[in-house]
Amino acid sequence: MSTNSKTRIYTEESEQSRHTQKKPSFYIKTFGCQMNKNDSSIITAILENNDYKCIQDPCCADIYIINTCSVREHAERRALGHISSLKKWADKPDRKVVVVGCMAKRIADDIAIRFPFVDLLLGPDSYRKIAEFLDQIFDTKTRIIETKLSDEVYGDIFPNRSGITDFVSIMRGCDNFCTYCIVPYVRGRVRSRPALEIMSEIQNMARSDIKDITLLGQNVNAYSYGNVDFSGLLNMVSQTPGLVRLRFLTSHPKDLDETTINAVKENDKICEWFHLPLQSGCDRILRLMNRKYTKKYFQELVQRIRQNIPDATITTDIIVGFPSETEEEFQETIGMMTEIEFDNAYLYRYSPRQGTQAFKYESLSEQVIKDRLKRIISIQNTITVNKARQMLGQKYEVLFEGPARHNATRGKTRGNIEVIVDKEIAPGVLSDMIIKEVRGRTLIAEFVK
Ligand code: SF4
Repeated sequence: MSTNSKTRIYTEESEQSRHTQKKPSFYIKTFGCQMNKNDSSIITAILENNDYKCIQDPCCADIYIINTCSVREHAERRALGHISSLKKWADKPDRKVVVVGCMAKRIADDIAIRFPFVDLLLGPDSYRKIAEFLDQIFDTKTRIIETKLSDEVYGDIFPNRSGITDFVSIMRGCDNFCTYCIVPYVRGRVRSRPALEIMSEIQNMARSDIKDITLLGQNVNAYSYGNVDFSGLLNMVSQTPGLVRLRFLTSHPKDLDETTINAVKENDKICEWFHLPLQSGCDRILRLMNRKYTKKYFQELVQRIRQNIPDATITTDIIVGFPSETEEEFQETIGMMTEIEFDNAYLYRYSPRQGTQAFKYESLSEQVIKDRLKRIISIQNTITVNKARQMLGQKYEVLFEGPARHNATRGKTRGNIEVIVDKEIAPGVLSDMIIKEVRGRTLIAEFVK
């Protein structure tokens, strides 16, 4: 995809008058995962550094930015529907519509043809130039499309952070090419952010009210910068004064090694929570998915974690209905779920993504996929509720994050399990709590007397 911009030659005068004008305001709507939310914070920081103003009400904004996701067809359909709904919004003079993110990278040409009112399309590696492009678009009324991949990590961009918990991106891209996944195509090869820049950002965050920080990457275990690997980074970051809790997301089971398990075991600030996407409990399907581990390897990994850290929380992602998955193979996945008893699981139906290897495989029928998803959701619900009941009467350290419903406050255990307390508590309070009730899937806690 090439940049389709008319080049404008700036004179000193035009530059000066542009800088004395009040810069337009922008609103960002974000679809998709935590990486995308983090990218929206990066975009906001870049635009604010260039005097554009972020506002929360799209009706009053001059620029409407949609940060899109391509991981599942459903996410793309929602984003496309949202772009379509902006036709009327874009009718007013001097309003600009910007589409960024994975879908902008994947199908920029289609979006440009289908939605002539979209002024700027940027892939995930082109945000650094967003202010410059917007300046051009306001001046020249041209459309710009820029979706080239690069080695960009936005290392020096420190978004404005607030709240009690937040995320810090430590790397971008992925080299694993799981056959169902679009990420390596739309976010490029894996590259790590310099450790010192991560440290500086985390030190700034810890000086504010942020107490619980999650290190973020598609496969954090592949982090490598100079001579710092992922466990080295964990140990470095956990020394940050003021930081209370440190987490990481997402681990690829094939790359989660002893050094990381030991870092979690030995370091009080690193929370005992492992998000380990299983995806399937059947070796043939794991091979077809190119996951590079077996069912036995995964079982042993979970065993190693539990032997070293008995109270670890283990959560997972599972895809049902991968092409050619038989009922027996699906039963193997159920077997792994009931054997391991994940504390929580994100369960998805297989979604074919054009451009991936698995897109060439013949899909199972809609009815079979729907039925398997329904069954697996019901099984995990039972496991999650049973796990919640096992927590009754036990003591957990809870960090309170903010209001839940009327007069109640929500917080998280070190294992990332949400609990509710039926009273108002200031965000940031850290306290030992006893689980006194399970309402549905919700854990109700009270202070230790
Ligand atoms: S590890 Fe696999 S599923 Fe995860 S982002 Fe990389 S290719 Fe996608």
